[in-house]
Amino acid sequence: LPDPDASALTDDDVASLLPVPGAASDKYRRGVVGIAAGSERYTGAAVLAVGGAIRAGAGMVRYVGVAEPVAQVRARWPETVITTLAPGEGIEEAGRVQAWVLGPGLGTDEDALAIARSVLASDVPVLVDADGLTLVAEDRTLLRRTAPVLITPHAGELSRLLDVPRERIEARGLEHVRRAAAELGVTVLLKGSTTLVAEEGRPVRVNPTGSPWLATGGTGDVLAGLTGTLLAAGLGGYDAASCAAYLHGIAGRRGPLSAGDVVDAVPGAMRAIMDRPQDDG
Ligand code: AMP
Ligand code: MG
Repeated sequence: LPDPDASALTDDDVASLLPVPGAASDKYRRGVVGIAAGSERYTGAAVLAVGGAIRAGAGMVRYVGVAEPVAQVRARWPETVITTLAPGEGIEEAGRVQAWVLGPGLGTDEDALAIARSVLASDVPVLVDADGLTLVAEDRTLLRRTAPVLITPHAGELSRLLDVPRERIEARGLEHVRRAAAELGVTVLLKGSTTLVAEEGRPVRVNPTGSPWLATGGTGDVLAGLTGTLLAAGLGGYDAASCAAYLHGIAGRRGPLSAGDVVDAVPGAMRAIMDRPQDDG
């Protein structure tokens, strides 16, 4: 991809961007991530997104959801602070977070819409993925907010947002990821065999890691949680998205794997970057 307006991250770039806790840090300063995901029908997406966030080193994860995913998140991730939502309820009572992850397995019914509206009404960065993107495609005004938005579509999800056929997005990813960032005024991480990150005024970042083993259900939910942790730690959408894609590719390098295996591989991927010998120049 010899494009002057595209660039790839390196291990050194990611190492210098990754937040490492200082001696005086505490869980709040390290970053509290809010995860609004899962529904009575899709419980696994919530478990995987929470797992991605926790294993990427979040200071704390707050999960908000309905009964069934709450039970599963509680069982699998006891570290999580949980708020159970009644039908139609928003996230207002969930407590303070530094960034929200909205959408994996959320569903698209009225209850999901109430959750999406309340998350997007907050004043912190929001990552919108999966069903959250379906809701936003139906009502673009949901994206009108002052705090940053990062969207993480695959080609099919971006196709609905831009009203462009999926095949055309797959064939010309660079063009469409740029167009989405400009037209929607958000940071865009376009998932696929090569993942791209675009934000207006910056070169598109082309992720060099990727792994076809990641083409299995649930890995996108893990990426959403992992990215949420980097956003909550204070990285901007552009850096959070490109570092997360890079680490996710490393975590998924060796197959066969399940999405749960990718969750478990996130700390090793981060250590491989942080602990390698430094060239102090
Ligand atoms: P999702 O589409 O939300 O299920 O997310 C799937 C994840 O797997 C994304 O991070 C994609 O970039 C990644 N992925 C899917 N297919 C491939 C592939 N052929 N090569 C590399 N990564 C892939
Ligand atoms: Mg997905």
